[in-house]
Amino acid sequence: MHFLENFSPQLVVASPGRINLIGEHTDYNMGYVLPTAIEKKITFQLQKNESDTHCRIYSKGYDTGFELDLRHIAISKIEWENYILGVLHEILKRTDGLRGFDCIVESNLPSGSGLSSSAALECGLVFGLNELFDLGLPKMEMVKLSQTAEHTFVGTQCGIMDQYASVMSEAGHVILLDCRSLERRMIPVSLDPFKLILLNTKVSHNLATSEYNVRRRECEEGVAIIQRDFPKIRSLRDVTEKMLTECRDKMGEVVFKRCSFIVAENQRVLEAAEALGQNDLDHMGRLLYKAHEGISKLYEVSCAESDFLVDFTKENPLVLGARQTGGGFGGCTLNIVHRDGVDSFIKSASEAYAKAFDISLEAFEVTPSQGTTIVRKG
Ligand code: ADP
Ligand code: MG
Repeated sequence: MHFLENFSPQLVVASPGRINLIGEHTDYNMGYVLPTAIEKKITFQLQKNESDTHCRIYSKGYDTGFELDLRHIAISKIEWENYILGVLHEILKRTDGLRGFDCIVESNLPSGSGLSSSAALECGLVFGLNELFDLGLPKMEMVKLSQTAEHTFVGTQCGIMDQYASVMSEAGHVILLDCRSLERRMIPVSLDPFKLILLNTKVSHNLATSEYNVRRRECEEGVAIIQRDFPKIRSLRDVTEKMLTECRDKMGEVVFKRCSFIVAENQRVLEAAEALGQNDLDHMGRLLYKAHEGISKLYEVSCAESDFLVDFTKENPLVLGARQTGGGFGGCTLNIVHRDGVDSFIKSASEAYAKAFDISLEAFEVTPSQGTTIVRKG
């Protein structure tokens, strides 16, 4: 693309990926989650161009770009373009200040690995354009607009967690977020002498989008059944184990399993927030194992590779807990590992994983990091 040759960006912004310590699939059930941003991120170099409506976007990692006219935005056949187009579409519905721009996207965040490169892509773009064109969008509006873009242009009926974490995170903290009220509590974390280690399974089974939407429907079906006996409940977040047990015979086995995972997982988030506040990492670790058990057996969004890596840690006394993180069917496992055991853990896990699946594992440490920021202006 010829604009790349004389590119001198007026603005550089970065939007991070995220981990979620615990609380998987609870966001769209209006429950609690416990995410934070990580160091790995997507960077956007932006400049205004001469045109009112012509825009050019280039992704370095994908080594491909596209051009568009702001007057004619429509869903593309190319998946990644839809994250961009969806965000532009949503911005145009809310403001009239957007004009032609050029943008280079660069990333060190693995995509399709449960670290929410999708939200980083959406949120970084809207954050950058908001700054470049002085659009006046509040941060929460940028979060919601990005979520809507993913629903309407990409087709994933995601909850609010990923976009919220990418934008709102603060270094050294995890966010206890109530996905219904959007009230949040920033919890300082000091894990020392433990570290958060991610193991990237490098598999991304193509079920993620379709099965995600199926899970959402199964949860809604559960709510509709429980509501017949308990009219006041609005989502699985309001359901107790007792209510669920009372309604068990009225729902199919699959819907029951999905509901029981969410009800328990939501409680685990609150327990985990408490444990972190008291620096009780042993308890935190046990909760991660329980969560993975549910992810695998009840919610059925794990896979052989993630199960293998989580099981592998169980013999290791220097690992407190592990689970698959992200929407599911691969991506990364999150591990709480004593610093003295990190190197040997990574080495042994990599060897075992290579032997079992013939895939070379990617491993890295993460620390709770800052959300979307301006890197450079002018
Ligand atoms: P996750 O959010 O867990 O990374 P998703 O499937 O939700 O997984 O989002 C990944 C998608 O985001 C990619 O398939 C691609 O369409 C888009 N994406 C991520 N990173 C980039 C990038 N650097 N350039 C272009 N598109 C990207
Ligand atoms: Mg995503």
